Amino acid sequence: MSKKNTLNPVSQELTAFLSEKDFVYGPEPELYGGIAGFYTYGPLGKRLKNNLENAIRTVFNQHGFFEVEYPIIAPAAVWKASGHLDSFNDPVIICSKCASSFRADKLLEEKGEKNAEHYSDQKLIETFKKKEVNCPNCKGRFNLEIKRHSLMMKTTIGQDTEAYNRPETATTTYLPFKHYQNFFRDKLPFSVFQIGKAFRNEISPRQHVLRSREFSQAESQLFVSKEMKTNWPSFKPVENDSLLLWTAEMQEKNKKPETMSLKKALQKKAFQNQAFAWNVWLSHQIFLAMGIPNQKMLLRQHKKDERAFYAEDAWDLEIELNSFDWTECCGIHDRTDYDLKKHAEFSKQKLVAKDEKGKEFVPHVLEIAFGIDRPFFALCDLFYAKRKEDQKRILLQFPPKMAPIQVAVFPLMAKDGLDKKAREIYQTLEKKFLVYYDESGSIGRRYSRMDAVGTPYCLTIDYDSLEKNDVTIRERDSMKQTRILISELSSILQKYSEK
Ligand SMILES: [Zn+2]
Repeated sequence: MSKKNTLNPVSQELTAFLSEKDFVYGPEPELYGGIAGFYTYGPLGKRLKNNLENAIRTVFNQHGFFEVEYPIIAPAAVWKASGHLDSFNDPVIICSKCASSFRADKLLEEKGEKNAEHYSDQKLIETFKKKEVNCPNCKGRFNLEIKRHSLMMKTTIGQDTEAYNRPETATTTYLPFKHYQNFFRDKLPFSVFQIGKAFRNEISPRQHVLRSREFSQAESQLFVSKEMKTNWPSFKPVENDSLLLWTAEMQEKNKKPETMSLKKALQKKAFQNQAFAWNVWLSHQIFLAMGIPNQKMLLRQHKKDERAFYAEDAWDLEIELNSFDWTECCGIHDRTDYDLKKHAEFSKQKLVAKDEKGKEFVPHVLEIAFGIDRPFFALCDLFYAKRKEDQKRILLQFPPKMAPIQVAVFPLMAKDGLDKKAREIYQTLEKKFLVYYDESGSIGRRYSRMDAVGTPYCLTIDYDSLEKNDVTIRERDSMKQTRILISELSSILQKYSEK
């Protein structure tokens, strides 16, 4: 499909910029022509991604979650039990003239159809007929038939054991359940999370790192009893925090989203219980910690027909991107006891917890699931800016805590001891911050280079610095310059870089 229909001009400009500035290369293997859906995070992109992952880890660790790491590859039996082998697939429609295949639901969504990904095959066909959608490649007519394309990426273990790369981290997090019982000493809640790679064999991924075939995911699983859901001690301290919520009811009545406290949302039955409301709150905390501005986030409840049959409640955290409008970036699900029951049935093992009276029951799972590539793209998309006075000069206005380079150190000239002094400062700061040293080109050019990769602070060491023991600090967004004492640098930068 032509690129023109897939990314709007802002994001094509942005993706080219991200490649040029060493954030994201690809599709890979670029050297051999490239295959859609595979990307390299370059030196600065990988740092930014690491900063995101560290923010995720910090929030989970601060709320009682423990990180685990399960293998990426698992045999077919696991994916049979989880339902992925039978039902994790996309609807595909094929052009009768040029034989190109497309994701039927995505094609309809590009034609303005909302939520086509939840349509049945029959409804998809009916909509194709009604809208008279033709092949974007050759304008030919489509075969009015939906084929199902499995998203599972197949592999082989040893000589002949059928296996698959995991399509999500979630399923694999349930599997060591018996060990969690031991670690948490049989006392619910068990709170664990995973950060790692997952794979989806998408038919035609066309949205840069927003939809790749290999991607990074973070997922938390909170194993609870039914009673804990309605009486969740962590809820009370945050019940007055407000979120922008768009409940299923509001959507059905064509009402706009509303900012509401968790307490009020629970009273209005927007959330069914405290523990789930707390999970939604926690997902929002994680995205704030990653530097996504609050006013760009919305929490949208799934309507009944969007939810899996076993799910008691499901919400998406959406981010308003410049390139793609409101984009789903995180799912929060009440998966009830469905997964543990399925794995107990297929593995013929007992996966239960005990209540205070020793009675056995199957715990419920509350889950937060999101790709890391999406908030990564969101940061680049939202903070990509141009200088008002000079539209040619591009800057990435990352929050300082997320920037891949937090501080740059420049000697005015690479001589007369200025470079020696600058290197000393660089070496001291490098122990605490992500620092970059640059002595080539004019100061103006060095500032521009750092603006373009999102460095919030640049320090210049000039001749006065040698006498007064101070430096000029230049702030990226305001371009304001002030002199500060070298002895105070570290503590001032510490304060700035927490923003
Ligand atoms: Zn065609």
